[in-house]
Amino acid sequence: EDVVNRVAAGEVIHRPSSALKELLENALDAGATAITVTVKDGGCKLLQVTDDGVGIRENDLAILCERHTTSKLATFEDLNEVATFGFRGEALASMSFVANLTVTTMTKDAPHALKASYRDGVLENGAAMPCAGVKGTTIAVENLFYNVPTRRKALRSPTEEYNRIVDVVQRYASSRTATSFVIRKLGEARPALHCPVATERVDRLRAVYGAAVAKELTPLRLNVSMPGAGAGGLRFALDALISSSSYHSKKSTFVLFINDRLVECAGLKRAIEAVYAAVLPKAEKPFVYAALTLPPRAVDVNVHPTKREVHFLHQDELIDEVQRAVEGVLRGANA
Ligand code: ADP
Ligand code: MG
Repeated sequence: EDVVNRVAAGEVIHRPSSALKELLENALDAGATAITVTVKDGGCKLLQVTDDGVGIRENDLAILCERHTTSKLATFEDLNEVATFGFRGEALASMSFVANLTVTTMTKDAPHALKASYRDGVLENGAAMPCAGVKGTTIAVENLFYNVPTRRKALRSPTEEYNRIVDVVQRYASSRTATSFVIRKLGEARPALHCPVATERVDRLRAVYGAAVAKELTPLRLNVSMPGAGAGGLRFALDALISSSSYHSKKSTFVLFINDRLVECAGLKRAIEAVYAAVLPKAEKPFVYAALTLPPRAVDVNVHPTKREVHFLHQDELIDEVQRAVEGVLRGANA
């Protein structure tokens, strides 16, 4: 049975960066205003996320890594919304099957912190141990895939896995400007990335991606009601910052959030890249940060939760709207 669970867990957690995405979302869901990511060997030896969120109560620690243990499913009606992006309580459970998982946590009113280790979904020693700590949660994932050789062999070099970790942190840091983000490599004194809380997103993007990118960015905001798009239409809002001159970079960056969750939408990316190619043929590597807000029920719940690719209602119409708006910005900024 454990082998089956391990294989299943490997389907949920592919590599250190996919574990990190889950840990970051949990920290943000817990209301963190400061998040530190500590990494050793590209996250293969150690991937640790520390937050200052609400913490986990002692009673919840006992069942934390059981499948489908979640505090985020208040009512059945929420199911659609939760299923859209979450794992419905599968992330930590999965990690406990393919790594050594240690949770240190303290809630606001607790007399002390608690430390709990998990293996194969079960709390080791049957109980969490009291320890010193501060409010918040630290989750350490050690020796990822120590027991799944096929997964371990599929990993890239520690440097490449580390780069993927940085990429995930950069994306969340772009979105969550009210939370500070730090990446540390274990044993190094200076943080590899430090993004203090920012009031303006462009300041955050400067901290995350550098001044060369930030100075080329133009804001793009939309608030659209598309009447033609079926019963009741579709309202959506777009909050974006896009590079608008012949900004050159080694790689293009396309950061997309829908309803505060990091996703990918190949159709939207293609449409925007096509505008850049048409209007700014020399800006081969555009930078686009886009946050879309859609009615939760417009987002497809049937996509497998491990896939970041997202589908939503009236997708083609929405992509057309966004494409037109991006074109307007690019033509305006370069008139
Ligand atoms: P989900 O996020 O879908 O609920 P997870 O397996 O990711 O499932 O997490 C299980 C539960 O553990 C969460 O619902 C939450 O109650 C708790 N949890 C996980 N990480 C944290 C954290 N950093 N701070 C507070 N609670 C957490
Ligand atoms: Mg989660």
